[in-house]
Amino acid sequence: MPANQRLCFNCNLPMKRALVRYKHLELEARECPQCQERIFTEDLALKAAAQLEAQRLESEYIKHPIRIGHSWGITFPREIVKVFGFDRPKALVRLHPDVGKGKIEISLQYRQLR
Ligand SMILES: [Zn+2]
Repeated sequence: MPANQRLCFNCNLPMKRALVRYKHLELEARECPQCQERIFTEDLALKAAAQLEAQRLESEYIKHPIRIGHSWGITFPREIVKVFGFDRPKALVRLHPDVGKGKIEISLQYRQLR
């Protein structure tokens, strides 16, 4: 029996992989072939939560650069700040400019600057 195989509590039959549609996402669950009871195991629930979180942040954020003295800045939406932990102590923002693609990637780190 595979590690993530579950038996139905009602029928004691092995549950099968099933996809549950929720908010335009297909979430993986287990379903009993007999009584159609559905469960999300812990790892499936965590996977589903990560999918939902990613979808919530998927939308593009359009921002105008703001002049701050001689520099330029942009502000980050509150949910981005929360999910990526901008407000954590020792949060460092690292910029990776890619001039060829016209992109700047931003990564977050949480340690002291040397
Ligand atoms: Zn069942």
